Amino acid sequence: MFEKRWSAWVCVSSTTKGDNGPMPLYRDSGVVLRTHKLGEADRIITVLTRGRGKIRAVAKGVRRTKSRFGARLEPGMHVDLQCYEGRNLDTVTQTESIDAWGDVIARDYRRWTAATAILETADRLTEEGEPAVQQYLLLAGALRSLAHDEHDPELVLDAYLLRALAVAGWAPSFHDCARCGEEGPHRAFHVASGGVLCRGCRVPGASAPAPETLDLLAALLTGDWVVADASADRNRREGAGLTAAFLQWHLERGVLSLRHVDRTAPQRTG
Ligand SMILES: [Zn+2]
Repeated sequence: MFEKRWSAWVCVSSTTKGDNGPMPLYRDSGVVLRTHKLGEADRIITVLTRGRGKIRAVAKGVRRTKSRFGARLEPGMHVDLQCYEGRNLDTVTQTESIDAWGDVIARDYRRWTAATAILETADRLTEEGEPAVQQYLLLAGALRSLAHDEHDPELVLDAYLLRALAVAGWAPSFHDCARCGEEGPHRAFHVASGGVLCRGCRVPGASAPAPETLDLLAALLTGDWVVADASADRNRREGAGLTAAFLQWHLERGVLSLRHVDRTAPQRTG
């Protein structure tokens, strides 16, 4: 799977020594979350790595080179990186493509909008320099699923969002009461309370989603794709709304890219 050819596309000889001697070199795999321009030719990339959590690194000269190198450092790409640690920013010295998920997904609008919301959420749920191997594995799994077209893109998105929130410590409950733990099923649903509520815990403002929608959300959270793939459009739409509300509740400002996900598009079933 690995293309065993390193492509040294940056000369780092002038930046490999800091004031206190050589800077540490590391190698890690990761998914590019976003990039932005720096000066005339460089780009800063934000990557969620397996071993180091989220990092930001300068890819020098990347915008001058032919796209063969630059394309590896686009959002959604799964790459093996070699970097020098810097005081503020690391510097990418070598890169190797593991999976061109970003390339594949970008050819399809629905998959790309789902991926964009996934990448933004991964960025929002992680902090630079804090290990986040579970978030990395979730992100990689979701992008792989989109690239291989395994399930409806909006279902992959919602499964990712629910699980990413759970990993962040905000696991919603779709069966047992989110407050007292009383065994479900329960009908009342309240985002701010963390999911379904029993009769005793029910609060004003609780809604009553369709039981099938709650079953779908539970299936997405646990990865029961047999149930999720067989779900009806109306439950997918209702579930997408509840998932977005959860995300909005926990993330200040919400996830802007979710606005581009067309929740009314005809969805694939089965
Ligand atoms: Zn309760």
